[in-house]
Amino acid sequence: MIDFRSDTVTKPSSAMKEAMISAPVGDDVFGEDPSIIELEEYTANLFGKEAGLFCSSGTQTNQIAINVHVQPGGEVICHEESHIYKYEGGGIAKNSGASVRLLKGDRGRLEANEIAQWINPAHDVHFPLTQLVSLEDTANRGGGAVYSFEKIQEIRILCDSLGLPLHLDGARVCNALAVNKIDPAVYGSAFDSISICLSKGLGAPVGSVLVGTKEFIQKARRVRKVMGGGMRQAGIIAAGGLYALKNNRERLHIDHEHAKTLETVFLKQNWVEGVLEVQTNIVVVQLCDASKRDEILAQFKSFGILGMAFGPGMLRFVTHLDVSAEDIAFTCEKIGEIAL
Ligand SMILES: *Cc1c(COP(=O)(O)O)cnc(C)c1O
Repeated sequence: MIDFRSDTVTKPSSAMKEAMISAPVGDDVFGEDPSIIELEEYTANLFGKEAGLFCSSGTQTNQIAINVHVQPGGEVICHEESHIYKYEGGGIAKNSGASVRLLKGDRGRLEANEIAQWINPAHDVHFPLTQLVSLEDTANRGGGAVYSFEKIQEIRILCDSLGLPLHLDGARVCNALAVNKIDPAVYGSAFDSISICLSKGLGAPVGSVLVGTKEFIQKARRVRKVMGGGMRQAGIIAAGGLYALKNNRERLHIDHEHAKTLETVFLKQNWVEGVLEVQTNIVVVQLCDASKRDEILAQFKSFGILGMAFGPGMLRFVTHLDVSAEDIAFTCEKIGEIAL
C-alpha cells in the first residue's frame, strides 16, 4: 500500500532504529535521561529558545502550553479549524477551563487586523479575558498553507502591544521553514512557545517537543507530570526524534515536490473541481460530485493507494518520507484511471 492518509504513518528507518537502540537512557522524571536532555536542548537551540520539554504527542505539547498560558475562564484566539480546537477532544475546555474565539482566517491562517477586532476589553466584566493567541504553521485544514513571516511579525507586534502570549502549533513547522527558508531561531523569536512534532514528516515513531523560556518550560514540566506524561527511560524514543531533526529536515522539499506533482495530475481530471494550491506536503482535492468521495477512495484502495476523506466532497493526500518517486509516478498513472 502507498499510504497518503497522513505523514504520521511513517516507520522508523534502520538508521533511526540503530540510534534508538544505542541511546543512553536514565530516569527522565529525575532529569537523568541524557538522550532526552540532548533532544530538548537541541530543539530549543534550533528555535532560539532557552528550554525544551519532550512530550508524548503534539496534542500534549499544545494542551500543556495552553494550560500554562491561560487561566480558567480566559479566552484563546485561534482559527476555527485549528487542530487545538477541532482535533484535541475539547481539551482547551476540559484541561484548562478556557473559552475560545474562533476566527475565519484564510486557509487556516490569521491576520493581525482580524485578531485585533476580537481582543476583549479587559475593563468590561462581561467578557472573558483574552489570554492567548495560537497560530498553526503549516495549517493542516488549510491544505498545508504556510504563513508569510511578515504576517507573523505583525501578529507578534499586536500581541506585544497587549501583553498577550503567542503560541505556535508547529506540528509541521519544519515543512513551513523548508518553504519560507527563514532561520528557525529568527522564526522562533516571534513566539512565546512552539510545539514541534517529531512523528509527522520528520519520520520519528513518537513524540513532540515544546520550547519556550526556562520559566515557561519549568511550569510546563509540572503540567506534563500532572497529566500523567512524566516518562522514565524515554530516551529510547527521544533518540529517534533527535535523529529525525538532524537528518530528515533537509529532505522535506522532496515531499513538497511530490505533492506538487500530484496536484498537477489531479487538476487534469474531469471529476476534480479544484485543489487547494499546494505549498507543502498536503494535497486537498475538492470533488465535482461530493457523493462520489467514498467510491473514489475505494477505487484508489483497489490500486493499492490510500487517501483520506477530509470533509464533505474532499480528499486529502499527504506526502512523506515513506513515499518514493516511484510511488508518486505510479499514483499519477492511477489517478488517470479512476473511472466514474
Ligand atoms: C498532528 C497534529 C498535531 C498533533 O497531533 P498528535 O497526533 O497529538 O501528535 C497538532 N497540530 C496539528 C496541526 C497536527 O497536524
